[in-house]
Amino acid sequence: MPTVLRWPLSVPPRREAVNPARPGREQRSRFERAPGCGWQGPPPFYLVLARKWRPRRFAELVGQQHVVRALVNGIVTGRLHHAFLFTGTRGVGKTTIARILAKALNCETGVTAEPCGVCSACKDIDAGRFVDLLEIDAASRTKVDDTRELLDNVIYAPSRGRYKVYLIDEVHMLSTHSFNALLKTLEEPPPHVKFLLATTDPQKLPVTVLSRCLQFSLKRLERVEIDTQMRHILDAEQVSYELPALAALARAADGSLRDALSLLDQALAFGSGAVRTEDVLSMLGTIDRRALATLGEALMTGDRAVLRTELKRIGELSVDYSGLLSELLVLWHDVAARQVLGDGIESELVDDEVLVRLAEGLSPEDVQLYYQLTLLARRDLDLAPDHRTGFEMAILRLIAFKPASGEGEQPKPPTLRAPVPAAPPVARAQPAMQPQPIAAACRWRAVATCTSLLRRRRRVATYTSLLRRRRRVATYTSLRRRSRLNRVRRASGLRWSDAPSCAGRRANWQRS
Ligand SMILES: [Zn+2]
Repeated sequence: MPTVLRWPLSVPPRREAVNPARPGREQRSRFERAPGCGWQGPPPFYLVLARKWRPRRFAELVGQQHVVRALVNGIVTGRLHHAFLFTGTRGVGKTTIARILAKALNCETGVTAEPCGVCSACKDIDAGRFVDLLEIDAASRTKVDDTRELLDNVIYAPSRGRYKVYLIDEVHMLSTHSFNALLKTLEEPPPHVKFLLATTDPQKLPVTVLSRCLQFSLKRLERVEIDTQMRHILDAEQVSYELPALAALARAADGSLRDALSLLDQALAFGSGAVRTEDVLSMLGTIDRRALATLGEALMTGDRAVLRTELKRIGELSVDYSGLLSELLVLWHDVAARQVLGDGIESELVDDEVLVRLAEGLSPEDVQLYYQLTLLARRDLDLAPDHRTGFEMAILRLIAFKPASGEGEQPKPPTLRAPVPAAPPVARAQPAMQPQPIAAACRWRAVATCTSLLRRRRRVATYTSLLRRRRRVATYTSLRRRSRLNRVRRASGLRWSDAPSCAGRRANWQRS
């Protein structure tokens, strides 16, 4: 009867081998579940939204219809250029479009504007392991040797696909020598080669490169487009969200979809899996619509108690004051647009009824003045002792320059306000008084400049003529010297070749 070996109770049982190549050996897993830790095994891989939702077909692209249309038409009609340059700010789809184009050229179903996405070429391009798509980061390979190495391989046919696609990202970082080395191949590449260049800074490219490429300038995305795409992604990911939060994120993204999706990732982490307005606003350091509306209405009515409370509340929130002033500027713009252009103008920052109240309660001149004062306050924000002081001073300035119609007890506003309406008459009176001295001064300056230029020209002329004269004198002197020498030679019956220097030179020549 076989004996059953049992471990003593105090010794823990053997762990399962994690390495199938060496199963006999007891191995410790590097990732043990620690007490209180949620996962076991290797750390879970999380693909960020910007990568997970990178468009795989032209139809999935957000915006950039002008580029897509040109590319699709080029593919359909078979008139595809060999070098493309995609320019535009960060996160608008330069690399994405280049990859889709590479897929369209190499899809196993043929050159098509609708790559299948299931063949091995499409899958490999999506996974970033297609051998004939060479993605080169020009920022880290700036040297001419790198470019030469790249160009040495251009002549060889593609190993798997139909075309060999060189995708050079951040191409403006290449050195001048690299650009020059690239020029000839960029102009007349072999038929199996396509160059796709992407850059955020086309001004740094030499014109010789620009003239060899088909240039597509990608636009910044509209807020609506970013907002819609975020909504689509969150619906697909089954994440709960609030619309004002998405609007705030779209505003903060400033035209870049990648920025928006990175912020969305951050908001998801911040709100532990949900996108809530309060979290997003506190994450971005902005205030909610209600606060901006309250601020605007308090400025309109001159309600100092409300203003005091609101300023105190904003001060406790640790907001980004520069961003807050920008939002205030957008609010004044919306109010002015509503006043001048009428119905149909909406604001993303405040509700429609608030916008109507502000447009009716403020005079157009006030709104213009508010805009200008806010603009100056934003410019000078860094000069203030701290941003909070700068912001509060700006709000106090706005209320100081408000016409004191309802409150007679304040003598300051009228005196402060006085210079503002009084400015136009002064400005109008000035033209009658000022022009003459200014014109005279200008004239004097012009005359002085002209005189000094003339003098300088004369000096240059004198110098030139002196130089010429000196040269003539030198020529004359040398001629005279030569003729005197000739005379002496003839008198002595010598030849030029008898001169010692000439003889020495000839001897040297014969020796060599
Ligand atoms: Zn395919």
